[in-house]
Amino acid sequence: MSRTEIYLDHLASTPIDAAVLDAMLPWLGAGGVGNPHAANSAGWRAAEALDRARAEVAKLIGATAGEIVFTSGATESNNLALLGAVPEGWQVIVSAIEHPSVINCLPTLALRGHPTTKLPVDPYGFVDVSRLSQLLAEGPAFVSVMSANNEVGSFQALDQIAALCRQFGATLHVDAAQSLSTCAMDVAATGIDLLSLSGHKLYGPMGIGALFVRDGLPFRPMFFGGKQQSRRRSGTVPTALAVGLGAASRLAQERRTDDAKHISVLKGRLDAGLAAAIPDIRRNSAAKDCLPGCLNVSIDGVDAADMLLDIPSVVLSTGSACGNGEPSHVLAAMGHTEYAMHGSIRFGIGRTNTGEEIDMAIDLLTDATARWRRANAPLSAA
Ligand code: PMP
Repeated sequence: MSRTEIYLDHLASTPIDAAVLDAMLPWLGAGGVGNPHAANSAGWRAAEALDRARAEVAKLIGATAGEIVFTSGATESNNLALLGAVPEGWQVIVSAIEHPSVINCLPTLALRGHPTTKLPVDPYGFVDVSRLSQLLAEGPAFVSVMSANNEVGSFQALDQIAALCRQFGATLHVDAAQSLSTCAMDVAATGIDLLSLSGHKLYGPMGIGALFVRDGLPFRPMFFGGKQQSRRRSGTVPTALAVGLGAASRLAQERRTDDAKHISVLKGRLDAGLAAAIPDIRRNSAAKDCLPGCLNVSIDGVDAADMLLDIPSVVLSTGSACGNGEPSHVLAAMGHTEYAMHGSIRFGIGRTNTGEEIDMAIDLLTDATARWRRANAPLSAA
């Protein structure tokens, strides 16, 4: 991150916290040598570090250490859950606004003979719980609903969804990649069977994540190899990355309440500032029950991707980093037209942002919008 950049893309990736890096460094140098799965002194040292990290991750979500499987990130965790924990013949129900690493498992599940359904959402991205209830009554189900959406920030009614799943004996998977840095989560109290998380959404390193698998849940691995992680995920666990995820999990527990407060204040300032400065801007994110750091807006008539090229010093997204520039399936499911989707911008506010940065971002975006509208007058008038 250059010093002149205003980084407002924390939903795509958070910077590694200095304390997390400090915890990792000894495991990246020569002193960190040793395969954590090897039966020798270096291996045992590394294995102990993994055990401590696993316990920290478990504590973050109210699980036990034995229920945590380290993965390469939330994409792998989601794939493992969807392709490894759906009992034969069960229907699979996912929200229409899930991350592509959930949605894109559906064709494979359909080939395996599972009926699949995408649950509709309302105009602010909240899942239709009554439709879920109808579907659950039709037969045994595996349900995957994210805690908070990565493009618009909507928090789903997880308590209600989990209670319904329990009532009908359904298995519930939650992709919590976006919410754990600012919101508490307790898998045992809520009644969640599987949960995905990712290091680089939690001020930890990229390339590491975890899947919580409730003790006793039938689970098929995706990789075949050694006996690592009780065969649930073969492959050597990268010690330094796992230690980083553990440190990030510990830090999240200490900081999430203060972080959420700070970030919410900044979001209020951003929301009000944009609404006052830019004509024809609309908020796509819900005013409440929304991720503290997420604000998704549409600026009418503007091609946001093109306009943002004019202000490279403000790091923003026009959708999720995983969307590859295609129109957002999230905004489409919320009922937005392609015209509005082209003007959509996602702000991802984080721990280290300041009020001054927010004000500068508002000014830069206001000027860039005016310039873009002037330069493309016939298009914006259409
Ligand atoms: N789920 C959600 C909700 C996400 O936001 C992301 C990252 N954009 C992922 C899954 C994938 O995470 P990773 O980058 O760790 O594979």
